Amino acid sequence: MIIITQPNATEEQIDRVVARVREFGLDVQISRGASRVIIGVIGAEDRIREKPLAAMAGVEAIVPLEKPYKLASFEFRGAAAPVSVGRVKIGGDESVALICGPCAVESQEQISSIARIVKKLGANVLRGGAFKPRTSPYSFQGLREEGLRFLAEARRETGLPVITEIMDARDLAMVEKYADCLQIGTRNMQNFSLLKEVGRSHLPVLLKRGFSATIGDLIMSAEYILSEGNMNVLLCERGIRTFENATRYTLDLNAVPILKAKTHLPVVVDPTHGIGLRDFVPQMALAAVAAGADAIMMEVHDSPQFAKSDGEQAIVPEVFADLVPRLRAVAEAVGRRM
Ligand code: PEP
Ligand code: MN
Repeated sequence: MIIITQPNATEEQIDRVVARVREFGLDVQISRGASRVIIGVIGAEDRIREKPLAAMAGVEAIVPLEKPYKLASFEFRGAAAPVSVGRVKIGGDESVALICGPCAVESQEQISSIARIVKKLGANVLRGGAFKPRTSPYSFQGLREEGLRFLAEARRETGLPVITEIMDARDLAMVEKYADCLQIGTRNMQNFSLLKEVGRSHLPVLLKRGFSATIGDLIMSAEYILSEGNMNVLLCERGIRTFENATRYTLDLNAVPILKAKTHLPVVVDPTHGIGLRDFVPQMALAAVAAGADAIMMEVHDSPQFAKSDGEQAIVPEVFADLVPRLRAVAEAVGRRM
């Protein structure tokens, strides 16, 4: 359930409501809106006696939530809420953000050069993996801390905040030193101990949909992070496994309006992994903006033929340059801007 306070509820009244919920042996998560405070109740709600709680000073309404997720639900905030990645606000308003960069950080020259190019062409956030989850243990695994240092230097040069994947909770303190946003990859979407750890981080988390996960599974995984106190979660559709084998995955754009209706969290679409073929990434990026995505994540590489991972799906800067104005036009056509 969520408890909605009256617009003029005092801090003392709110504290009393929270204390009462805790007396029932439950915990709370508090969300402060412009005029009201919303108290999410976490735990076995059947322990609560609702009537006396509803009668407390400062309480406007108690809304039972049938859904298995609470903090992620649209009702918890009552509106789409933005998440900040560095100084870039994603979601919650009309603007659509661009998160671009190579699949993997390969060298200082590579990441800095790509960062400068995408920044000039309109990207808002730089991406690049220092820990790479590869199907084969013999493939390039990432530069680890050195890669993080290269990313941080690229941020210093361009001002772009950086997002990078974390695969192991033991690396959290290290990644937090360098990154502005943690990425949880598709293969770790249901690594619940990792989700709980990033739920205690001060950094926002971009949570990628597991390639065999339902939309409901994705929201429940977000709930793991939120319930640990980290309210800054971005959901990312990146393609799912279907019977179709003409593409790497099947980009499920249905997820965009559904997630936006069910949750208040920003929705990011990654057409790069979704289709896996660079020639068709632009079309799917345009479609994602039309579907209502709050940000598009794309792999851009200046020499993809030499890329250490995912070269076949990265678009080159010239294609990106041609795409950005078209993305802007679609954003405007659907009442957004870029
Ligand atoms: C990536 O973003 O490079 C990546 C590995 O993504 P995913 O987890 O979606 O495969
Ligand atoms: Mn990749």
